[in-house]
Amino acid sequence: MIQINKIYINGEFVTPKGTETFDLISPVTNQKTGEVILGNEEDTRMAVAAAKKAFKTFSKTTKEERIGLLRKLHEAVSKRETELVSAMVNEYGGTLQFCRMSVQNAISAFTATINTLESYDFERTVGHSKVRFESLGVVGIITPWNASNSFICNKLATAIAAGCTAVIKPSEMSAVQTQLLTECFHEAGLPEGVFNIVNGLGSVVGNEITLHPDIAKISFTGSTLTGKAIAKGAVDTMKRVTLELGGKSPNIILEDADLDKAIPMAVFGAYMNNGQACIAPTRLLVPQSRLEEVNELARKAAGQVKVGNPNEEDTLVGPMVSARQFERVQSYIRLGQEEGAVLLAGGEGKPEGLESGNFVKATIFTNVRNDMRIAQEEIFGPVLSIIPYVDEEEAIAIANDTTYGLAAYISSADQEHAERVAAQIDAGRICINGFAHDPYAPFGGFKQSGIGREFGVFGLEAYLEPKAILA
Ligand code: NAD
Repeated sequence: MIQINKIYINGEFVTPKGTETFDLISPVTNQKTGEVILGNEEDTRMAVAAAKKAFKTFSKTTKEERIGLLRKLHEAVSKRETELVSAMVNEYGGTLQFCRMSVQNAISAFTATINTLESYDFERTVGHSKVRFESLGVVGIITPWNASNSFICNKLATAIAAGCTAVIKPSEMSAVQTQLLTECFHEAGLPEGVFNIVNGLGSVVGNEITLHPDIAKISFTGSTLTGKAIAKGAVDTMKRVTLELGGKSPNIILEDADLDKAIPMAVFGAYMNNGQACIAPTRLLVPQSRLEEVNELARKAAGQVKVGNPNEEDTLVGPMVSARQFERVQSYIRLGQEEGAVLLAGGEGKPEGLESGNFVKATIFTNVRNDMRIAQEEIFGPVLSIIPYVDEEEAIAIANDTTYGLAAYISSADQEHAERVAAQIDAGRICINGFAHDPYAPFGGFKQSGIGREFGVFGLEAYLEPKAILA
């Protein structure tokens, strides 16, 4: 049995004051694998006090000193890459392929932040004024369970680059991965209080971070619902917020696209992280004139998807994170049928032989209308909706007809054509002919997918306060 019974405050692993526990459950077997002791409000206040004290000195460090610390963090996390991957796979059921990529992204966040910091000027002249970019203060970092390590690493790296100190509240469902990461951060030898990590519930630790007057900013990744609650709570102390929220991303297959390539890629992409990815291309927009062809290719691609044990190399879809999430996805599969969408692959129930875990069949609906709830709401499971469009104008209108605006995808034989369409899509990140990650490009959402941007200079400036000194 795994026992996570420490939190990290002021440079030390300490026993939380909180006494409540959270059960760790394997998503593959639904058996209990361990327990986490949860921190409470008092633990959070101690962590904030440590971060506040550390900020006084840390905000005065030079860029070179902070680069040195980021290098140590990079080295410490890189050393335990394999362990981190396996902790992720076992804890929430992400596939080996996905978790390797996610840990790579976590590691690359340090190198990218170092590079950004090296060329960043904290003081510049604008008009006849000097503008200094000063560290904001103590930052509250609140993260979800999917790809938790990469979020924590990127947010902490940016906070450190900016001379801020941090109180981190990971999801209670990613305590094992976070424990390993905390050991890495500890080994890197950061000054006391620069980072603090408190396991706990959102309603307890997350809420205390949101309301605490000594926290200057919250960097949150999670659902739109929680993001709204945090934004409301943060307003009383006028905290800055960066909110990375949900999505229902369109994948537009233009008339001139190579369907043999684009459709299998669209199906496999929709199932990234077992369908539990904020940027997953869950709405596949295809020309009405080629719907039959698309349906055939999509059905074939779904048939090639291996749903199963996430520890097996060729598994593309592992289990849902929890039994509750499994039930939620099942209810959407039922809803799709009730709404009149046509089930093309998968459907309700568990795949044969996988009855003990939270496994969902690789599911595709076709003839979906964009006003159906399965096309509007974030399902967070391996469920793809194929939506036909009559012409390009309609494709763009459907793509934008959502409250979200996190990512979008376009397939076309002509890059310029794709870019003309991209210019008309309301989304923070658009990929053409594939899926890509760029740790220097801004990442964040239009509309209800969030506020602010992460990565590169855009992310760094969200942890800084500009001060103009007028001559
Ligand atoms: P969630 O919103 O339930 O929880 C996220 C974090 O917020 C957890 O640590 C949770 O404990 C905490 N929390 C919950 N209630 C809180 C409250 N009232 N105050 C403060 N903190 C609180 O999200 P989840 O289920 O862990 O993650 C899945 C969601 O995250 C999906 O909606 C997904 O789209 C989104 N997500 C977004 C991005 C992005 O970059 N935009 C990336 C990954 C996931």
